[in-house]
Amino acid sequence: MEWSKWKRRIYTQGATPIQYLDQLTQLLQGPNIFVKRDDMLGLVGGGSKTRKLEFLMADAIGKASDCIITCGDVQSNHCRLTLSAANYEGLDCHLILEERIPNSFFPKANGNNLLYQLLGASSIRVVPRGTDLLQEMDTLKQQLESQGFQPYVIPVGGSNPIGDLGYIACAEEILVQTKQLGIRIDQIVCASGSGGTHAGLVAGFKTLNTQIKVIGIGINRKKPLQDEAVHHHILSVCEMLDLETKIDYEDIIIFDDYIGEGYSLPTEEMKKAVRLLAKKEAILLDPVYTGKAMAGMIDLIKNGYFKKDDNILFLHTGGIPGLYAHANELMD
Ligand SMILES: *Cc1c(COP(=O)(O)O)cnc(C)c1O
Repeated sequence: MEWSKWKRRIYTQGATPIQYLDQLTQLLQGPNIFVKRDDMLGLVGGGSKTRKLEFLMADAIGKASDCIITCGDVQSNHCRLTLSAANYEGLDCHLILEERIPNSFFPKANGNNLLYQLLGASSIRVVPRGTDLLQEMDTLKQQLESQGFQPYVIPVGGSNPIGDLGYIACAEEILVQTKQLGIRIDQIVCASGSGGTHAGLVAGFKTLNTQIKVIGIGINRKKPLQDEAVHHHILSVCEMLDLETKIDYEDIIIFDDYIGEGYSLPTEEMKKAVRLLAKKEAILLDPVYTGKAMAGMIDLIKNGYFKKDDNILFLHTGGIPGLYAHANELMD
């Protein structure tokens, strides 16, 4: 496919495993449940952003950039992985952190915040919720340029057409791997945040001519806004690749019933899902994305959304360091 012409750095050896979740499948008496272990991707702490960064960092290096600027929440997996990729490539990395929940930034916080410190960000700036992050990054870019640097800006979640190539490549990886394993996958369930992961998978499966449906579980925005975001990402990546792929809103499946009070705020179902997967499958989920996505998938199974003989693949997008920033809420 077209994307293979794009420059790529490799941060993970081989494909991430696909595992059958025997105990969870038996417990729920529903469809067969598999998991794609993207929590085992390379760089510090693993997770979905690593796939996007393989293409983004290759682009930055191709443009002779010497430092990276990116942004995210105060406990951002994307910021931790971007910083990690920058260190690996020998580049500086500047972070702009948005306090999406007022007073949620603690300089001594555990989780991703601890890792920002250990990995050593070149600068960290915390801004209040609702700040125009693109504007903030642009201002910093101009400052750095005036000091003689050549910064490369990566948007929130690493979601832009170049980053989204990571999940087009993943769609192909899944097809090759399930063929080797001799399993047919009917639906994929993933957390849908900035929307790049969801969009890359939809665009990838469409262009590869497969019938696999992608079900996004919203963790932040209500359905109409999330639909828009995913649609926009699909159109932009297809345009960049000159793909004629026809995608309508019907191809974009989103459930927004599992967000709770808002981004990163815990729900009872998330806590149950985190405990259940740890207990039954020895798999850790994160409290912000995969815990809520799993809670959503379990609820859809209980409500009969899937057929008994469907094979569903849960995409584990990582985020585990976030558990250690939510210890109080998760402890009994
Ligand atoms: C960023 C992130 C997501 C969401 O991916 P998007 O491409 O932003 O929609 C899901 N899970 C984890 C753990 C993440 O860090």
